[in-house]
Amino acid sequence: MTGAVDIARAVRAGSRTARDVLEEHLAAIDGREGELHAFNLVLAEEARAGADEVDRRVAAGEDPGPLAGVPVALKDNLCTRGIPTTCSSRILDGWRPPYDATVVTRLREAGAVVVGKTNMDEFAMGSSTENSAFGPTRNPHDPSRVPGGSSGGSAAAVAAGFAALALGSDTGGSIRQPAAFCGVVGVKPTYGLVSRYGLVAFASSLDQIGPFAGNVADAALALEALAGHDRADSTSILEAAPSLSGVLDRGVEGLRIGVIRELVDGIDPDVGTRLSEAAGALEAAGAKVDEASVPATTLGLSAYYVLATAEASSNLARYDGVRYGLRVDGDDITAMYGATRSAGFGAEVKRRIMLGTYALSAGYYDAYYGQAQRVRTLMIRDFDAAYASYDLLLAPTTPTTAFELGAKTADPLSMYLSDVCTIPSNLVGHPAISVPYGRGDDGLPIGVQLLAPALGEATMFRAAAALERSLA
Ligand code: GLN
Repeated sequence: MTGAVDIARAVRAGSRTARDVLEEHLAAIDGREGELHAFNLVLAEEARAGADEVDRRVAAGEDPGPLAGVPVALKDNLCTRGIPTTCSSRILDGWRPPYDATVVTRLREAGAVVVGKTNMDEFAMGSSTENSAFGPTRNPHDPSRVPGGSSGGSAAAVAAGFAALALGSDTGGSIRQPAAFCGVVGVKPTYGLVSRYGLVAFASSLDQIGPFAGNVADAALALEALAGHDRADSTSILEAAPSLSGVLDRGVEGLRIGVIRELVDGIDPDVGTRLSEAAGALEAAGAKVDEASVPATTLGLSAYYVLATAEASSNLARYDGVRYGLRVDGDDITAMYGATRSAGFGAEVKRRIMLGTYALSAGYYDAYYGQAQRVRTLMIRDFDAAYASYDLLLAPTTPTTAFELGAKTADPLSMYLSDVCTIPSNLVGHPAISVPYGRGDDGLPIGVQLLAPALGEATMFRAAAALERSLA
């Protein structure tokens, strides 16, 4: 299966039709979707119409855009006009958004073809896609394993060749962790670089949309199309979209890269070995690599589970049985709210709403929410201090390879630990990319993570491309 850059080039040149590319991906979906369950909804007919329109434009001599004919899969928390958007939750049963997310509009304008909506942990809360109300997604490399989460369906879709690109959302690692588990590239951009308009909110100060791709160049092409200011999102930054595709072959000569000591503690030995090899490869390519310390990263997980749940408890208050989806009647309005929310939300979502409500309650606000905000400030300072000495930081993406289905469902804390290496970037708003780097002792993919300061995407992609080349 070819990647996005090659597909778009061939379709624009008229040497391949978008329809032919699409049919190849739909055949891959037919072959393995029953086993993997990457999608909540496959949009075959809409996609055929979209591909035919791209081909019509090519035939008419028009330029269909940089993603011409590229099949993309969308996480099912991205609004699609008139098309069910479920967040893999019963509470949105029957809801059809009246508008498209800005990223969906941008992809279409760039010539991409949407093939479907992907499975996820309910409201993006989880690390395995097992919290979906519609059943889990399986890892294409080993169907007894999870694909990671919460954007597990998107990661699996790219890994299985169902789509050349996919979009996910990353609040604490939900793009990078599943990318690592499925052996694909995953990017969390700088907070504010990609519009969140039309992304169903989980924790608004942490959520960012980003791409999954089969290789670094495809991810760069996707992010160029997605990024850039949007008036509809008040946290969207004014910066123009960065130019990434043009810098990929510039190498890492002279870059200073620090391996974050605190994030190496406690990871599996095979993950540690791949990380050391990645550090060695960057050094061999001309970077200056040594050990860096970002002390407050050890506090990330605790701060995140206060802040993310606090924001979620507020964001999810809108699912009241009146405005969206499911309604379960009761004797009065309070009973209706209770019955709807009891029936509509799954166990993990309820746990987060209760945790967050507690953290925000009058007697505990300062001890929990206030304290977590102070940790966030400490972490920003620690990263700023590290970036005074380094251009980029390197870390594992996850402490382990993909685990077995069911292995962590009974123990939420062990599930939360999957994100210990990815959460810090969300708390500070910085970009990070996970690049596949070899396999573990169990034969499953391992990812390493490059972290950059705010708006450092160009340097981050340069190093990611160098890492990828070192494996070739
Ligand atoms: N796994 C983390 C959580 O459950 C991160 C989720 C995400 O990034 N959406 O909150």
